[in-house]
Amino acid sequence: MTYENSLEFALRLDEKDHLKNYRSQFHIPQHNGKDCVYFTGNSLGLQPKTTKKIIEEELSGWATLGVEGHFHNNKRPWFYYHQFSKQSLAQLLGAKPVEVVSMNNLTSNLHLMLASFYRPTGKRCKILIEGGAFPSDQYAVESQIKNHGYDWNETLIEVTPRTGEYTLRTEDIIKAIEAHKDDLALVLLGGVQYFTGQLFDFKTITKAAHKAGAFTGFDLAHAIGNVPMQLHDDNVDFAVWCSYKYLNSGPGGVSGVFIHEKHGLNPDTPRLAGWWGHDESERFKMEKGFKPMPGADGWQLSNVNILSSAAHLASLEIFDEVGIESLSQKSKQLTGFLEFLLNSIPKEKLEIITPENPAERGCQLSILVHHNGKVVFDQLSEQGVITDWREPHIPGTGGVIRVAPVPLYNTYSDVYHFYDLVRKALQ
Ligand SMILES: *Cc1c(COP(=O)(O)O)cnc(C)c1O
Repeated sequence: MTYENSLEFALRLDEKDHLKNYRSQFHIPQHNGKDCVYFTGNSLGLQPKTTKKIIEEELSGWATLGVEGHFHNNKRPWFYYHQFSKQSLAQLLGAKPVEVVSMNNLTSNLHLMLASFYRPTGKRCKILIEGGAFPSDQYAVESQIKNHGYDWNETLIEVTPRTGEYTLRTEDIIKAIEAHKDDLALVLLGGVQYFTGQLFDFKTITKAAHKAGAFTGFDLAHAIGNVPMQLHDDNVDFAVWCSYKYLNSGPGGVSGVFIHEKHGLNPDTPRLAGWWGHDESERFKMEKGFKPMPGADGWQLSNVNILSSAAHLASLEIFDEVGIESLSQKSKQLTGFLEFLLNSIPKEKLEIITPENPAERGCQLSILVHHNGKVVFDQLSEQGVITDWREPHIPGTGGVIRVAPVPLYNTYSDVYHFYDLVRKALQ
């Protein structure tokens, strides 16, 4: 598509937008009585207007039924709650319903997955991650390595971009995997890297990891609801995510896991177990001896957090209706427009560090501002434009503003307003 640098052009695209009616299904935060330009859906997605109603339905079930709600709650008996999100999640991930379950929170789930898929033996003990991975993932991996009695500095392999580059080349990841073919236990990467917005090539990386004798896992915190995926076909071993970013399921919202059926349907796959993962028909017999439910369900520990999961369902309903492919189509155009506008600003002032290739990113662009980035960020905030600021890694160099134009509720004119303010702030 050919873009034009004008507000009129942005308004024309808004008019033609096939998803334009979805914005009104969300609460848009306000600034001085006007809608904010909300570009932090990668951090906390906006609240669907249907969320309140579904939570109130569960509250009402609790008020009128008490414990009986587990089996007799009106539309959604709580005992079966983990089933209600399965189909939608499978759709978003390119998975089979048996391969996914929503539960717990992200970092807890990452530990559960590492308990199953990081089982170092002798020399085969190393974990490969991307340099600058999200801190929680780094700490999880570090502590797992220590728990197994290994020296984490020697056991953790971090792949970093080439000098002068900001993102990783798939070939460099593959090379690192091959170099460690005798001692690699696990490759763990962000699906979409939280800082750079880079989308990794799941299929190629997984294939190389398997060839080297290692498992692969992806942290999809920034990928789910943002980009279409094919986890099953790509043969990924496991994945985890949270639902409060692009999935709009509320602060601290319920997380979820994907476990490929080749592991999930095998009752002997090692795991840390709890009663909610035990064979459903015998769960209340309260007997000794763990018999896992088939698939990802067999990794559940606890009974479901109903209020948080209700919010999750309200949001997933919107994704079911729109479809991730259709979202992705708008996403590419919307982010493409932002990229086009920002590219008209001289490179000495700012640079986009997210990959240029739309197949290697989701909606987020990470913008390196060489000088006075914080001033630009503060000016944006004062004008009701909500973005995210990351301090420079090296003092005196540029900091990064991350912006996520979310196709469900952001507009082409949001993008134009953002660009216009950045341009003026940099003058
Ligand atoms: C957001 C995010 C988290 C957050 O972890 P919680 O356990 O949900 O607090 C972890 N990892 C990545 C990559 C993230 O982007």
